[in-house]
Order: sequence, then C-alpha cells, then structure tokens
Amino acid sequence: MSKVGIIGAGLSGLTLALALHQQSIPSIIYESRPDAPLNIGGAVMLSPNALRVLDRLGVYERIRTRGYTFTKVDYRNAVTDTVTEMQEFGGKDKYGYDALRIYRSELIDVLLEMLEAAGVSIKYGRKFAKVLEETERQVTWEFTDGSRETAQLLVGADGIHSTVRKYLYPDLVPKFTGLAGITAAVPTAQLQAPVDLHLPLTYVLPGKGGFVIAPQQVDGSEQLIGKQRRVEKDLTREEWAAFMADKESQVKFLQDIDPAFPEVVHRAVSNIPHDKINVWPFYVVPRLNAWSSEDQHRRVVILGDAAHAIPPSAGQGINQAFEDVYMLSLLLSDTAKENNKDYLAASLKWWQESRQARVDQVLELNKQIDLRRLPQSQDSDGLEKLNFEVGWLYDIDLDQVVGNWLKEFQ
Ligand SMILES: Cc1cc2nc3c(=O)[nH]c(=O)nc-3n(C[C@H](O)[C@H](O)[C@H](O)COP(=O)(O)OP(=O)(O)OC[C@H]3O[C@@H](n4cnc5c(N)ncnc54)[C@H](O)[C@@H]3O)c2cc1C
Repeated sequence: MSKVGIIGAGLSGLTLALALHQQSIPSIIYESRPDAPLNIGGAVMLSPNALRVLDRLGVYERIRTRGYTFTKVDYRNAVTDTVTEMQEFGGKDKYGYDALRIYRSELIDVLLEMLEAAGVSIKYGRKFAKVLEETERQVTWEFTDGSRETAQLLVGADGIHSTVRKYLYPDLVPKFTGLAGITAAVPTAQLQAPVDLHLPLTYVLPGKGGFVIAPQQVDGSEQLIGKQRRVEKDLTREEWAAFMADKESQVKFLQDIDPAFPEVVHRAVSNIPHDKINVWPFYVVPRLNAWSSEDQHRRVVILGDAAHAIPPSAGQGINQAFEDVYMLSLLLSDTAKENNKDYLAASLKWWQESRQARVDQVLELNKQIDLRRLPQSQDSDGLEKLNFEVGWLYDIDLDQVVGNWLKEFQ
C-alpha cells in the first residue's frame, strides 16, 4: 500500500494510522472537527485483548500508569448486599494484562504524540462527503468543501453515524435501542464505602435493574456512577443535545434510587457535579454483509463503530475496534502479495469474517450481562444464565491468527 486515507480521528482512526506506520504504510487522517479529536464520555475500559494490541504498538507502556487498574467486577444483590457473581475484566497472570480504566483524553493525547513523532498528518476541518470513483488500483473521494483526494485505500473510521458507510449502504440508519447510559463522576470519599467492599461493582435490584460503581483516575480517587435510562423514542441530534444539556433532569434520574439499595449507593448520588455527567444513547448498527466495497474493487473499507457499533454491556466497543485496526494493518502490510490481485479481496473477506465472528460472540456476552443487570429486559427473555468464561475474548494473539492465515493463503 502506498497511501491510505483515513476518515475520522476517533480512537479507531488514530490507532489505525499508528498501526499502519508500524508496517511502513503511509496514511493521512481527515477529521471533520475543526481541531482536537472527539473526546466524549469520560473514561473507557480497556481489556487484555485491546491492551495486547496497544502493547504491540508501543502505546501500552505510555498509558499503563495513567489509568486505574483492576481485574474483576462484582455483581451484588442490592437487597442482601452480597456478591452473587463475578465477571473477569483482566488479570496479569491469567491474561497477560490487568484491565485499565482510562480517560479517553489521556489515550488520545498519547496517540497524538506518537503520530506526531511518526510524522503522520491529521487534517482537521475536512468533512468527507462522498466517494467519486473507485478503480482497481485506487479510490477518489470528495469533501464537503468540494476538495478531492485519492489513495489506494479509503478507510471509514467515522463512527456510528458514518458517512463513508453510505457508499456501501446508502439507506442504512443505526437503530436506537431505547436506552441511554446516564453516568457521572463523583469523589470516592463521598461514598464512604466499607473497606471490604470490592469496586468496581454492579448492584442488582431484582426486577428493577442495576447501579454501577467503578473507580477511575490512577489512584481510584474518583468513581463513575451510573444506570440505564429508558428513552421513549429516538431523538434528532438537536434533541439529544438538549437532552444532554438538561443536567438537572439527569441528576434527578440518577438520584431516583429505590430505598432497597444499600446506603453506599444513596451516598454516591448525594452530590453530583453537573460538569461530570455523561449521556450515552445506545445505538446499534445491524449486522452488515460487507465491510468493504466488494461489488467494486474493495478500495473502500469501514471499521470500528462505523462497521459494528454494539451495545455497551460488555464494555467492548472500543476494544473490538482496536482488534479491527490491528488485524487490518497486519494484512495490508503483506506487500509481497500486492501484485496478486486476489489478495486484497481474499484478505479483506477473511478479515471481516473473523472480526464479525468475534463481534457476534461479544453480542452473546452482552446478552448474558444484560440478563444480570436488566432482569426485565426483553432481550434477555428466555435466556439461560451461563457462566462468564471469557478466555476466548482476552487471550487472542492477533499476530498469530493473521500469521496462520497468511501461511495458508500462500
Ligand atoms: C458517552 C460515551 C461513552 C462511551 N464509553 C465507552 C466505554 O467505556 N468503553 C467502550 O469500549 N466504548 C465506549 N463508548 C463507545 C466508544 O466510544 C466507541 O466504540 C468508539 O468511540 C468508537 O470509535 P471510532 O473511532 O470507531 O468512532 P468515533 O469515536 O465516533 O470517532 C469517529 C470520528 O470520525 C469523525 N467523523 C465523523 N464523520 C466524519 C466525516 N464525514 N468526515 C470526517 N470525519 C468524520 C468524528 O468527528 C470522530 O472524530 C462510549 C461512547 C459514548 C458516546
């Protein structure tokens, strides 16, 4: 590959540029925002599968000490205040890495520093509009200001409401699930949590849903608190902006706590700073048949939320995007195969199938988690409670997986 154009400077786009650079593939990122990349939603949770990718890219060493490390989340019955189940999120001995909860801004800062050192440029204020022409060797596209660019490959890392995806699916609209996550950050001291209370945890009040408490900041001095809110109908962008801006209503929702919850939950919501509130409406992209322009020449690819935005239950949204990115960079690096005209089609097809299979497994895990957090959820009806075996998720070595496929392809 002599040049890749990446649309979107979110976590997928930034990480893809870094991964391509590691494979000596030049790329340019185009971002619609006028300056700094999207910094939404406070902190994110990174699990060993993603941390292994970030380690191979040299990112892990730089972020390791910038977030809160943990290994598991407890599920506690809110009435009896006892642990009913435990879900692993990481573990150095078992999976090579503890889980890391890190502010998105910290991760973005590190990626930007590394991209600058690598000489990768990010063009801000360039909003992708449409693909103009795709040939066997390259693709040309246009921005909303009428300017044009050409590259060997165009990657849409432009998020859940992706415009690049419209080239593959002109009529597709992400589906609103009817739920939004309402979260806030409060000082840990406010909780006056018993010393033997393990955090993070999810309190479950049977029949009434859950309440999440998760430490953040390196020293655990802050707690994310949150619960899920039903929202009657999908809202327009402007309506969501107004919904998010109505902090009083979000505080009221968070403070509406059933008396059956333990005191620590009541103290957690006693004082909620408005500037630490986040609203995350849950949209999903239905399962797509193609993540690249297979009817044309496969010179247009989508990944991350653009290809498979998934509900947040297992906290795998961004973790799965890192898997997409790293695997794709390894496949594109195989320049020896560049003259084999079947290689691009075959590798992209296999990439999508393997990635989709993992995303499907994560969706199953989500259902298991919802079964615990949302006992009345329609999605969970009739599901059997299975144990939380997650080795398949955390133990993957993508270098090995791709290496094996390349050997077979030869
Ligand atoms: C409030 C909130 C909290 C979240 N918390 C978590 C969490 O704890 N854990 C987790 O795993 N996931 C979490 N997620 C989901 C996670 O943020 C997404 O999975 C992740 O951001 C996807 O990354 P992405 O780079 O694919 O897309 P995005 O982060 O959406 O980035 C897309 C980028 O493309 C740009 N763009 C869009 N259109 C164009 C265009 N036409 N031209 C040029 N640029 C364009 C956007 O400005 C943006 O910078 C959260 C999401 C939200 C909203």
